[in-house]
Amino acid sequence: MVMPTLELKPHWRRMLTGDRPTGPLHLGHYVGSLKFRLDLQDKVECFILVADLHVLTTRIQGLEEVGHNIREVVLDYLAVGLDPQKCTIYLQSLVPEVLELTWLFMALVGVPRAQRIPTLKEQVRDLKLDSASMALLAYPILQAADILMVKADVVPVGEDQESHLELTREIARRFNRLYRPVFPEPDYPIGPRLVGLDGQAKASKSLGNVIFLSDDPETVRRKVMSMYTDPQRIRADIPGRVEGNPVFIYHNYFNDDRDEVADLQDRYRQGRVGDVEVKEKLARAINRFLDPIRERRAYFAARPHLVEEILKDGSRRARQEAQNTLQEAREAMGLAYFRGAPVGAEG
Ligand code: ATP
Ligand code: MG
Repeated sequence: MVMPTLELKPHWRRMLTGDRPTGPLHLGHYVGSLKFRLDLQDKVECFILVADLHVLTTRIQGLEEVGHNIREVVLDYLAVGLDPQKCTIYLQSLVPEVLELTWLFMALVGVPRAQRIPTLKEQVRDLKLDSASMALLAYPILQAADILMVKADVVPVGEDQESHLELTREIARRFNRLYRPVFPEPDYPIGPRLVGLDGQAKASKSLGNVIFLSDDPETVRRKVMSMYTDPQRIRADIPGRVEGNPVFIYHNYFNDDRDEVADLQDRYRQGRVGDVEVKEKLARAINRFLDPIRERRAYFAARPHLVEEILKDGSRRARQEAQNTLQEAREAMGLAYFRGAPVGAEG
């Protein structure tokens, strides 16, 4: 297992993905989705949205930090090497047309269908809600509008998004059949899931078992030294299990020194290496991996006006796309009452 790479399908023209601005991105995001975006940005047109309207589906208070999180997420994008010359990075709420498209799509989705989305029940359970809000119920419909608004034909996602992408495809199909073919049915390559530092199935910021892309070297070292390993191995001379061992899973993803990884694995299996050495080397490898990311982050962090410009420029571009698609959708549905540009739309 090494860092995943995405194999290009010849019919892909446009990618869309994004993140809710709920906090900084971590190594799980890198493995599960940022890497695929980096693979695609040289090959297809890329749209990456910061989905601030989607925050309201699970949170209606303490929203003051959203603005800060938006900047941090964009910094994370730029830091990993997503290039604003190649990718349109934009803010969802600066493209209000998406809400009108959401409304059109809502008319095509039955309430029981929306209620059957598995992430809905999970969210209600995990967040201990009395019931889902209308916004939470509409979460995947807004997501479908984000995707179809730019006519994306490839949407790299994590496995938890599968049911949402299936609904997106259904909405596209239903629309195309009812009116005329306007929307693609997007493919959704699924990125691998990274285990948590504590051995839990998923690295997740709310579980506190992640290394953030913005962590400094000492924090990385501290986190790695406390990682969960083979619990059976109480002494360095006991043969250990490499398979499923988080320390080796992380070595496999992030350590570019393959000889070192092979050597550590061998000696671990034979009981000829201590955890401390394995972890020291992992901490060094992750820091090597993060160093160029830190450098780019520092560059953009020192230029906040540039980050804002990138987001505003991207949003202008995305909005142009959005207005065109919305007009097309309205025409297909028989809802375009006037010729030419919609009344009130800025060109
Ligand atoms: P929270 O704890 O608040 O749920 P999180 O760290 O799980 O945060 P999300 O914002 O839920 O992050 O994740 C957004 C997307 O990032 C997910 O849909 C998934 O595709 C991807 N992702 C998150 N964590 C991982 C992971 N550990 N491995 C692979 N992909 C991940
Ligand atoms: Mg999560």
